[in-house]
Amino acid sequence: MALSSDSAVSLEAALPLLSLRSQAIQESQIREASRYCQKFGALNLAQGLPDFAAPEALKAAACAAIREDHNQYCDPWGLEALRVALAEKLQRDNGLTVDPETQITVSCGATEGLNLALMALLNPGDEVLIFEPFYENYLPNLATVGAVPRFLELSPPEWAVTSEMLDQVFSDQLKVVILNTPANPTGKVWNRAELELLAQYCQKYNVYVVTDEIYESIVYEGEHISLLGLPGMQDRTVLVNGFSKTFCVTGWRLGYTVASPKLTAAMRRIHDFLTICAPAPLQHAALAALALGTDYYQQLAADYRRKRDLLFPVLQKIGLNPVLPAGAYYIWTDSSPLAAEANTAAYRLAQEARVAAVPGYCFVRPQRSTVNGLRFCFAKQDSTLTEASERLLQFAGVSS
Ligand code: PMP
Repeated sequence: MALSSDSAVSLEAALPLLSLRSQAIQESQIREASRYCQKFGALNLAQGLPDFAAPEALKAAACAAIREDHNQYCDPWGLEALRVALAEKLQRDNGLTVDPETQITVSCGATEGLNLALMALLNPGDEVLIFEPFYENYLPNLATVGAVPRFLELSPPEWAVTSEMLDQVFSDQLKVVILNTPANPTGKVWNRAELELLAQYCQKYNVYVVTDEIYESIVYEGEHISLLGLPGMQDRTVLVNGFSKTFCVTGWRLGYTVASPKLTAAMRRIHDFLTICAPAPLQHAALAALALGTDYYQQLAADYRRKRDLLFPVLQKIGLNPVLPAGAYYIWTDSSPLAAEANTAAYRLAQEARVAAVPGYCFVRPQRSTVNGLRFCFAKQDSTLTEASERLLQFAGVSS
């Protein structure tokens, strides 16, 4: 017999409570921004994903892999050929010598890789340092393992890190640092001196580091350096990266971790029972991605530089004081010229200029009562950015 709606309500009330961790996780505000973006017919510069096509060679390789029947579970650690190709890439681009057999694990996106690292390293109550503003996933990821975030606020335009600042936040309670370079949402690219400083503190306080390097190929100023390669960091660093951003395939869910054999073994035990393996046919296609030559990477960085340089002066002209990003594909600006409060500023921009950006609240600790900041994503077709620029200039009453 079907339950009446009344008894369904009372049954729900009588059921045991859901987990605390599920309640600690808030719905993403970026999705909320996308919702009102739709409502106002705004151009979506909020969501951090490209609106243009993946390279033809990858699409063809993925279709071929499915036709060739690579459609079943594969090696949970990742196709051997892919791990070998990744080891070659890590040697070539990152100066890292790693064993594909014991140190590389292919995951379902960098997202799974980050979660594997945190699950392998942390117990409930352990403390983790994150640099603010930070990628919005880090807080829910820490909530999942019951870890306690500690924050170090960085300031525009340099987002610099000094030993005085690290003195404030490093302690014997700290277990893990999450480092994101090039960073979302700030575009900060950590330089060698800052990385060496961080490495020094991690060794002094015996701390692990999880490095999120998903934007490594999108650098305009400075160079991308992997902390894993710094002296003394091999056993205490998990490098996380993936194919989403470099190859414009965010929906493929392909990432990887690189770490010592001991840390890798711990992450693999979790990965095997969490997702079994990353999508098998797409791992075959990823081989085609890694076979692309240096031209591809140069073009990628040049294309994103052009897009950055298209949007940035417009944000300047309309008085939002944008911070020029050194890497990744976001621009951080003030929100205060639009409204006292970042949420109101983002809403106003979507409604009146019909351009959606993400309010700064998404990238800071929840305790912060006011935030001055908006994030614009420029991983969009030039035509989308030109249209957004026209709308913004018109909204601000500035001629182009
Ligand atoms: N890290 C950062 C900093 C990101 O911005 C994103 C995507 N927005 C990810 C990780 C997620 O990467 P993936 O698609 O490989 O899970």
